[in-house]
Amino acid sequence: MEDRVFVLTLLISLSSASVSASFFFPNITGAIPPWQKLPNATSLAPWDAFTNFSGCHSGETRDGLSKLKRYFSNFGYFPDSSSSNFSDDFDEELEKALKTYQRNFNLNVTGQLDDRTLEQIVRPRCGNADIVNGSSSMNSGKPSSFQTVGHLLHTTGHYTFFPGTPRWPVYRRDLTYAFLPGNELTDEVKAVFASAFQKWSAVTPLTFTETDSYSTSDLTIGFYSGDHGDGEPFDGVLGTLAHAFSPPSGRFHLDADENWIVSGDVTRSALPSAVDLETVAVHEIGHLLGLGHSSVEDAIMYPTVTSRTRKVELGDDDIQGIQSLYGGNPNYNGPTATTPTTTTEDWETSGGEIPYSASRWILAGFLAIGSWILLS
Ligand SMILES: [Zn+2]
Ligand SMILES: [Zn+2]
Repeated sequence: MEDRVFVLTLLISLSSASVSASFFFPNITGAIPPWQKLPNATSLAPWDAFTNFSGCHSGETRDGLSKLKRYFSNFGYFPDSSSSNFSDDFDEELEKALKTYQRNFNLNVTGQLDDRTLEQIVRPRCGNADIVNGSSSMNSGKPSSFQTVGHLLHTTGHYTFFPGTPRWPVYRRDLTYAFLPGNELTDEVKAVFASAFQKWSAVTPLTFTETDSYSTSDLTIGFYSGDHGDGEPFDGVLGTLAHAFSPPSGRFHLDADENWIVSGDVTRSALPSAVDLETVAVHEIGHLLGLGHSSVEDAIMYPTVTSRTRKVELGDDDIQGIQSLYGGNPNYNGPTATTPTTTTEDWETSGGEIPYSASRWILAGFLAIGSWILLS
């Protein structure tokens, strides 16, 4: 039994409120998912073509560089750009974005598309931007003495917050969460999320309780496919895996097209594109609570996740970050944030949610079927 790996596949149909018809996929249970027919599902990952830019540097023009610029724009590296009409020229703006990216991910700041950098760029990752509203809070936004060098830290406090440091207010310490009813998740899947929430409640005064009342829940969790109405469309297998909004939004979306591994050993999955659900859930809950991305590779809040890997334990950086927002759990015996270093100007402000995406949020007619596929 231990060797069996279960994959949850979710097919979700969606339509906007303006479209009355919705799509439904009946009797999906037992069907062979399309990815099983593919010789190598990872070759379809949306960013793999970027590896063709190996060695590319300033002054060159290459077909498709505009797509790389859009990638950087999506994750906040083109703060001044309107993110439209990118050229295929390796211009100064791209070089600047690339250097910032390299700093954030502890790479050699070459300003060129060297192999190490490309390797990092094509990794599946969280859809949240690394730089929000132009202010970088990862390595590139810190003085060099605060930056990580490999795995060694010069100091603690690499965790980051959203601009304005939004967090759940003091009178909201017992938060509820609900699953998008149309997803019809099994108890086994729900248990994965409960376990992910527990990682954060263990080190804070926060508690998380599931509720059936989706409309009144503090936190809402849903699997969506492609464009789902918030301006941040998902992109199929790998690429962007999930995203979540800062407090007090509570919205947490996962890409329904990923090959989510719910139980079993993800590192032994036969699927190159297998992604561990709890690993992603622990990360996104960090965003729901107010944490941004960290440059510390071992931290849960590091932006990328390699497929077929599992990382569900909070790192010291994560714990220090979350405890500087909410304080510790009196019953917790592990490392605590003894010298929390807040990085922003006004962390008492629990302002509005950070809209890294369009404010439009019209979703209707979600129908989903979850099916368990026994792989071996
Ligand atoms: Zn993230
Ligand atoms: Zn979304």
